[in-house]
Amino acid sequence: MTPAEITALDAADPLAAKRDAFHIPEGLIYLDGNSLGALPRNVPERVKQVVEKEWGTRLIRGWNEAGWIDLPRRVGDKIARLIGAPPHSVIAADSTSINLGKALSTALALRPERRIILSDTGNFPTDLYVAQGICQALGRELKTVAPEEVTGALDESVAVLMLTEVDYRTGRLHDMRALTRRAHAAGALTVWDLAHSAGALPVDVTAAGADFAVGCGYKYLNGGPGAPAFIYVRPQHAENFPPFLTGWMGHAAPFAFELGYRAGPGIDRMMVGTPAILSLCALDAALDVWEGVDMGLVRAKSIALGDLFIEEVERQGAGGGLVLASPRKGAERGSQVSFHCAAGYEVMQALIAEGVIGDFRAPDIIRFGMTPLTVRYRDVADAAGILSRILREGRWKSPSYATRAKVT
Ligand SMILES: *Cc1c(COP(=O)(O)O)cnc(C)c1O
Repeated sequence: MTPAEITALDAADPLAAKRDAFHIPEGLIYLDGNSLGALPRNVPERVKQVVEKEWGTRLIRGWNEAGWIDLPRRVGDKIARLIGAPPHSVIAADSTSINLGKALSTALALRPERRIILSDTGNFPTDLYVAQGICQALGRELKTVAPEEVTGALDESVAVLMLTEVDYRTGRLHDMRALTRRAHAAGALTVWDLAHSAGALPVDVTAAGADFAVGCGYKYLNGGPGAPAFIYVRPQHAENFPPFLTGWMGHAAPFAFELGYRAGPGIDRMMVGTPAILSLCALDAALDVWEGVDMGLVRAKSIALGDLFIEEVERQGAGGGLVLASPRKGAERGSQVSFHCAAGYEVMQALIAEGVIGDFRAPDIIRFGMTPLTVRYRDVADAAGILSRILREGRWKSPSYATRAKVT
């Protein structure tokens, strides 16, 4: 595309004004909002107010007077709107890993006669690790197949189908609706990980019939490093299941201090311990950014950004050794574009040194997140140009780029 065409795309972008709701450092092209979302401008003030006014002056009274005790439910309701869930079916709490453990163990309890948790080899490692631990504790078995073989592996031995909708490496999108229908036809329940879906594309857990879903607060929802995650339980199950982690915050009357556990109503029972109020407040404020945002527009822009990036990288970087790892068709991709790249770690370090932040995923993937509320068409075109120059000029070969940090 010509620079004039790219300028015209930004000028006509109905989401362009949303970028002002975020703090984005001057001169930086940030294509890693799929790993850690940018800082919404309203968050610092909110956190300051909660720390100084609520904690500082109300102290313990804040639980009632500032409504801290209901924050997991209030934040959960905001997330519910983004994933097609009804009110009071989502809570914000704990991490995605912990919520996966809660969802899986509960789903297994609803299918006591079946042995298998089915997942795929494209799933995020923590999902598989949690499933392995749960299987060991509860005497079940994790079976993983290639992503395209999931449907064929659904039989009457499968208790739970556990999948991540968008592959964290390639961005390949599973058909949540079709796979859930197939799982139900086989008598299995579903646990969906929406870490790369919530806030990235339209999600409708109700229409899909998903039984459980979990997702991340610090990626596309911009809640800040280590923000609380969320968990959804389909309302028709919510009263039927025994929670596995039976903590006091999930008790029907936490402040009755009874000696025996009684499950709280519905989704409340998925809470375990005291909520992380400071983090929840940051996430709560961050979610206000979504007020009035049309997810259809988000999806359309996300696909257009991805298409433009692929086109520009392939045009300018031809011969640079990059191989597209993401589906070429936008409809089959989440909100990211990845390439296989032999010296991927070094190339990404060189990119970061030149003001383009993406990330590297072992063994050889360089990954670029398209967060439509913050990324402009010109960012994507510029990033493609810088990437191509780094490859052409071999700038990634500097020894300083070869030392691996703990977080890649
Ligand atoms: C980011 C991510 C997680 C992260 O889990 P945490 O418990 O927050 O560390 C889990 N699953 C998937 C698919 C992810 O992309």
